[in-house]
Amino acid sequence: MSTIPEIDRELCIGSGNCVHLARGAIELDDEGVATIVDGTSATPAQLQQAERSCPTGAISVLEVDH
Ligand code: SF4
Repeated sequence: MSTIPEIDRELCIGSGNCVHLARGAIELDDEGVATIVDGTSATPAQLQQAERSCPTGAISVLEVDH
């Protein structure tokens, strides 16, 4: 089972919550929009907390079977 985060760039307002909650996995890019840099560097729990904490619902965390 893998946890894969996705971010809808159209919904992101650059609040930065996810950057702090999933440190190392998500950063703000040059446009101030969240982007996945390394989805494996945060735990599934951290990614799910980032998903829940996003004020615009821009983050989706998928559980994928391998
Ligand atoms: S928490 Fe949501 S709105 Fe804030 S930077 Fe992350 S994706 Fe964007």
